[in-house]
Amino acid sequence: MPNTDLTLDEIVRNGLCIGCGLCQSIAGPQRVRLVMTESGGERPVASVALDDATLHRINETCPGTRIEGADAARLPANEQVDPIWGPWSRMVIGYAGDPAIRDQGSTGGVLTALGRYLVESGEVDFILHVAASREAPMRSRRQISFDAAQVLEGAGSRYGPAAPLVDFLAILDRNRPFAFIGKPCDVNAVRNLARQDPRVDRLMKYALTFVCGGASDLGKSEEVLRQLGLTEAELTLFRYRGFGNPGPTRLETKDGRAFEITYPEMWADEAGWRIQPRCKICPDAIGEGADIAASDCWPGGGPTGEDEGFNGILVRTQAGARLFEAALRAGALAIDREIGPRDMDVFQPHQVRKKRAVWARLAGMAAAGMATPRVTGLRIEELARENGLAQNLAEARGSRRRAKAGRLGEPAPEPRAGG
Ligand SMILES: Cc1cc2nc3c(=O)[nH]c(=O)nc-3n(C[C@H](O)[C@H](O)[C@H](O)COP(=O)(O)OP(=O)(O)OC[C@H]3O[C@@H](n4cnc5c(N)ncnc54)[C@H](O)[C@@H]3O)c2cc1C
Ligand code: SF4
Ligand code: SF4
Repeated sequence: MPNTDLTLDEIVRNGLCIGCGLCQSIAGPQRVRLVMTESGGERPVASVALDDATLHRINETCPGTRIEGADAARLPANEQVDPIWGPWSRMVIGYAGDPAIRDQGSTGGVLTALGRYLVESGEVDFILHVAASREAPMRSRRQISFDAAQVLEGAGSRYGPAAPLVDFLAILDRNRPFAFIGKPCDVNAVRNLARQDPRVDRLMKYALTFVCGGASDLGKSEEVLRQLGLTEAELTLFRYRGFGNPGPTRLETKDGRAFEITYPEMWADEAGWRIQPRCKICPDAIGEGADIAASDCWPGGGPTGEDEGFNGILVRTQAGARLFEAALRAGALAIDREIGPRDMDVFQPHQVRKKRAVWARLAGMAAAGMATPRVTGLRIEELARENGLAQNLAEARGSRRRAKAGRLGEPAPEPRAGG
């Protein structure tokens, strides 16, 4: 059989890499390292040619080459599958029971509250997630949190590159129970690995995620620095959200200055969001593979002001339902009200549009000769049918045009000067 596996360069050049880091962990850092590229994405660079077995393993697990819906064995008996929102057993608006977590969390602090509950209850030894780098606070790094204070350190959304899986196999080697919090694509990656490595399901007790509109490259944050006349070396803090909902983007410098930008100011100009190519064709930005997904719940998709913090919470799996109920009983979470998928449509109109458009966008990429991911169990073809032929043709042609113009791909990854 011909070898159809993509090389790492091909994954990147076809715009499929989101920089999760799993390939570095699989190949080992002596052979593959994530680097910060000129355009501000974290991308893998191989220092030696990879053998076929390693490359195949990467192709089977990379969330750029393989994206699968929820494994039916994880779902509870009362599971429902909404065409847009996927499997769910309960949807609510809720928030962290602890007011400090609710305040500091990105939205209502639900993910941080669940992480803290899990380490404090002793059900897991640690949480694998990301946090701002202490040395370079505009960058994000993978974080292992053993206690409540460390979990809280990771609270807030990191809108730039973030690679939680750079040493995921070493984390499995610890042979200790843990929970994972990451983007939906990060969860796709670990669920892919679970099909190969039984340790994932044995040790990773929960995979928690957020509904994700797309991750900017580092250039978005660098643009903020430029506008404020700052350099990265001056920073002691670069916080995108939290301390309110949504809370301001706040920068602090070594010489004691502080700057705040409101969420509407930060995200006013969509052309300047610098969302990474993989996000534009994301078939699962709503975390169908996770046990629980948390979201914002602003009607229309954007905030009209600040509030105390309310998350949409989608409980998806049996494990998620167990955790959700236990966290409620312990007071780690509080519920405002029950909701359903059509409420989520109102909060996330951009996700509804994207979920219906992805199949045609992928068809357009394929027509332009680009590689596309294998997508299964995510209903994208059925959802495309709801759009009708004319709209699908327009999506596919637009995507083919952008692909031919090089706007859906990326250059081969090169480390940028200065890192
Ligand atoms: C790139 C991005 C795009 C988003 N787009 C949407 C959207 O379209 N619609 C929507 O409803 N919500 C979106 N969110 C999610 C929203 O901002 C909140 O993260 C979510 O509501 C959970 O809030 P919380 O208060 O429970 O999270 P918190 O309690 O603050 O916890 C957040 C957790 O997420 C982890 N995390 C943060 N950033 C990253 C990252 N880049 N990669 C991996 N892990 C990370 C942190 O380590 C932390 O554990 C997005 C978030 C990000 C980072
Ligand atoms: S998405 Fe992750 S696994 Fe795939 S190439 Fe990029 S860093 Fe590697
Ligand atoms: S939109 Fe999809 S690919 Fe992009 S960061 Fe979010 S989950 Fe990952």
